[in-house]
Amino acid sequence: MTPPLGQHLADGVLAGDRRVLAQAITLVESTRADHQAQAEALLDRVLAHSGGAARLGISGSPGVGKSTFIEALGLFLIGRGQRVAVLAVDPSSQRSKGSILGDKTRMEELARAEAAFIRPSPAGGTLGGVARRTREAMLLCEAAGFDVVIVETVGVGQSETAVADMVDMFVLLLQPGAGDELQGFKRGIVELADLFVVTKADGELLDAATRAAAAYQGALGFLRPVHPRWRPPVLACSAVTGAGVAEVWAAVEGYRDTLGAVGDLAARRAGQARAWMWSEVSETVLANLRAHPQVARQLPALEADVMAGRITPAAAARRLLQAFLGRVEPG
Ligand code: GDP
Repeated sequence: MTPPLGQHLADGVLAGDRRVLAQAITLVESTRADHQAQAEALLDRVLAHSGGAARLGISGSPGVGKSTFIEALGLFLIGRGQRVAVLAVDPSSQRSKGSILGDKTRMEELARAEAAFIRPSPAGGTLGGVARRTREAMLLCEAAGFDVVIVETVGVGQSETAVADMVDMFVLLLQPGAGDELQGFKRGIVELADLFVVTKADGELLDAATRAAAAYQGALGFLRPVHPRWRPPVLACSAVTGAGVAEVWAAVEGYRDTLGAVGDLAARRAGQARAWMWSEVSETVLANLRAHPQVARQLPALEADVMAGRITPAAAARRLLQAFLGRVEPG
């Protein structure tokens, strides 16, 4: 008898087979009900083997140099004997699989490396859905023995929060510009960062990048640090010459040592797992509510009434919940 798909994939993933890992992630991304059951069995099987990687989120505006930097960092790590997986989160993308990070011009050299695994963002779907599949892909990469998992946010905006909520450390890349780019970011995003890296510190831009790093560091001095034990450093780096890449990695290790030693890293992961559970509950409840025939029947009229001001949103929500649950406790 052939073993069930989930079982077969789990064996391949645990053996570190990249081709099977790719198939396993495809199964996890599938929306088919029978696939979802198999994906759950697969994830159950590998869970105990996950958690071993350094989880790194990397973000920054388009053109700041994310893919060039990730390639340089990835190759640096591989040179030190590590295995590196790169996953992307891009909820805005309707592009088909394989066209973002799979794009031939992006991370070409890293993509060719035996010790690397690069996976584009799951196509389409809500941010919640994309984030969930990326989290599961991360667990699979860890079970396959990757030492570092880098999650890149390709989108600008809300995906930063979703990525910061699934990694140990969130890195924000900054342009070697005039130094007021921080104002261009929503303050909330700057506060998510555990490390800032000014890119393109080479050639004509070297001076500007060095000055920008000092200016950013000064500006950040006014922000309240997120962790009492960690003040996010600002480093400058060139993905082209490689200058500063080792220092960036040293900062990542410094962060992991500092927070790991006092249990803060474990606490961050535990909190993330709990929040993930609750977001699964909310997404599922909401999907079931929307699919409920009584709700679906009343929804158009209730929405119209709310929009026209004929009924309060709270009263309309209560009616929908009543239709869904048969009754509803006061909120
Ligand atoms: P992304 O959109 O953030 O992924 O940015 P890319 O990695 O595609 O880089 C955008 C542009 O910046 C490209 O033209 C790169 O060649 C250039 N670039 C990226 N990193 C560096 C660097 O370290 N030095 C220099 N001089 N140019 C860089």
